[in-house]
Amino acid sequence: MKNKEAKRAYDKIYNQKNAVKKRAQNAAWRNANKEKMQAYRDKWKLENPEKHKSALAKYRAANLVKVRAATIRCHKANPKKYKADSRKWWLANKPLTKIYSQRRKARKITNSTPEQIASADAKILQMLSARKTLCAYCSKEFKTSEMHVDHVLALARGGAHSAENIRMACENCICSKGDKILFLEWRPPQPLLLPL
Ligand SMILES: [Zn+2]
Repeated sequence: MKNKEAKRAYDKIYNQKNAVKKRAQNAAWRNANKEKMQAYRDKWKLENPEKHKSALAKYRAANLVKVRAATIRCHKANPKKYKADSRKWWLANKPLTKIYSQRRKARKITNSTPEQIASADAKILQMLSARKTLCAYCSKEFKTSEMHVDHVLALARGGAHSAENIRMACENCICSKGDKILFLEWRPPQPLLLPL
């Protein structure tokens, strides 16, 4: 027992003393074998797609500032590619883009709390999951993809970006309502089917 403890203590000191040396050795080896390292990493990524994805997400979450800076650097170096990529992503992630564009607008205009914004995100996702939706104002049914997210009390009029303040509305209603205050400055085309 005593010996075991002594060995552990000795190993600890030895490792501490040699940590710097070991790190330098490892770094030197990696530097001298860059291609080998890259090939190894590529192979691992291919064989462990899920692990790679979660490791990447973990790294990104822990290094937000660094990742953001690298992304901006990359965009500046390849403006054309960035534009094409972001367009492609935008088209492939329509539900998400609806959330993001609404959220960006909300951040600019209102003082919605993070909790309110999160509740709005969840509600938009839930609303977009339906194939067809009733317009909150004219009560007609539309394909969800043709609907718009509307703030009952417009952001520009002090409305919050929160689950309670968002509804799905059709193009006609949203265009005619605009930023007007419901019932005071704008009346829905017919009495509401569902209470707001
Ligand atoms: Zn409508």
